[in-house]
Amino acid sequence: MTIRIFRNARIHTGDPARPTVQALAVDGETIVAAGGEAEVRAAVGAGAELVDLVGEAVIPGLYDAHIHTANYARGLSEVDLRDAGSLEEALARVAAHAVRLAPGAWLFGGRWNSNLWDRPVQPDRHALDSVCPDRPVALPSVDGHTVWANSQALRMVGVDRTTPDPVGGRIVRDEHGEPTGILRESASYPLRALMTAGDLSTELRAAQEELLALGLTSVHDIDGEDCRAAYLELYGAGELKLRVHKAIPVAHLEAAIEEGRHTGQGDDWFRTGPVKLYSDGALGSHTCHMSEPFAGDAGNHGMAVTPYDDLEKLIRTAAAAGIAVATHAIGDRANHLVVNAYEAVGSSPGLRHRIEHAQHMRRADITRMARLGVVASMQPVHCTSDIDLVSSLLAGQDLASYAWRTMLNEGVPLAFGSDAPVEHPNPFAALHAAVTRTRPDGTPAGGWQPEQRLNIGEALLAHTVGSAYAAGEEGRKGLLTPGRLADLIAVDTDPFTAEPESIQHTEVLTTVVGGEVRWQRS
Ligand SMILES: [Zn+2]
Repeated sequence: MTIRIFRNARIHTGDPARPTVQALAVDGETIVAAGGEAEVRAAVGAGAELVDLVGEAVIPGLYDAHIHTANYARGLSEVDLRDAGSLEEALARVAAHAVRLAPGAWLFGGRWNSNLWDRPVQPDRHALDSVCPDRPVALPSVDGHTVWANSQALRMVGVDRTTPDPVGGRIVRDEHGEPTGILRESASYPLRALMTAGDLSTELRAAQEELLALGLTSVHDIDGEDCRAAYLELYGAGELKLRVHKAIPVAHLEAAIEEGRHTGQGDDWFRTGPVKLYSDGALGSHTCHMSEPFAGDAGNHGMAVTPYDDLEKLIRTAAAAGIAVATHAIGDRANHLVVNAYEAVGSSPGLRHRIEHAQHMRRADITRMARLGVVASMQPVHCTSDIDLVSSLLAGQDLASYAWRTMLNEGVPLAFGSDAPVEHPNPFAALHAAVTRTRPDGTPAGGWQPEQRLNIGEALLAHTVGSAYAAGEEGRKGLLTPGRLADLIAVDTDPFTAEPESIQHTEVLTTVVGGEVRWQRS
């Protein structure tokens, strides 16, 4: 094994007993000594290879606890409507993208947000038909809970006026009963099945370079079995450079149990993660499950995507098979029911159940999460992206929203991530949002609900050790101390001394995973 000494750096270890050191000695993938350079050299003797780290600081590699890497990878080659300012602009981008595709080929992509359009209209198939009459088009909304399709795409999956709404979904219809092209929740699944074409391992190979360049060294991937297969292909070929904790889709739970899969199985590069359940939808689509209706949308409480009894049964089945559970919950009612279900099933030794997003909570449920040891897997940029939406749709409701300070104070384990491609995967955007509660442009001044801000040390811990804890890997990842993996990044900004608003502009200079330089800024 090669012994390397990484040196000439201000290394923030994350360990309160020794927060900064000047050098690390690494044997193979594992740190064997941390301290002053002379001390570290003495610990490993002569003959170690010396690696100088350039930059202002070194911090542990960042760990995204909730990312859809397959969707992100595909998105790199798809149309991106995220910052389109109007329906017209969205359609112009679709038209421009279509000319690059083969005749009749599917046009994928999207991540549109009609709440941001100058006229926030609900788009329809006729608009898409006007720019793409001869090819199928299917465009998920930014929160992923709605798909906007053209007529050709609806024809290809056989959706017409006679098609009933599926359980847990809605085919939006016009006044004549004709589908408008908007498919909500499970109504979009048949189209989604067609949207996963292409060579995923090639796309993931490219995507991991982007993620390493952003300072990510580990991810909890929330995508499907095709993504797992593609990662295993990279792993088998020795091409995996990023560590992956791979979630199981609920549709595959039984098959996974049958083949003996369980959470934590694998090695430091590729491990089986939790099963991903959905309890509700999303705020922007008015499908998150609330106790009170949305302001201005009388009687609409959102929806339970998985009915409570099924939820409890699924958690019981997974836990009995040694599989941890990660349940998507956004609305307060959804979060309440998920906590009830975890409580009813009881603790399963060695398994860390989690709530994904945990966005709008009753305070008592936060206390219960702490008592039950349920991890809050949160995405700080969702908070700052949603400020206007929360202020309008949840006006007057007494809820703790994106309440990471309350979570931490109550003793809820926090794990941070991006939910990319819903948001950009840059972890420094998340750290900025966590410590400022402002948008990238600094608004609102002083931060939105600033009492919920974290300090940078707390935010970094949530994005490193916190994510590792959620995966049961805190003994291997997240701190730069002997016995842990040498996953670290050198950055051009020291997050501990920088102004909070400049953290978002941090550039990664070098990314080391397992003691090897895997990416370097040229
Ligand atoms: Zn997600």
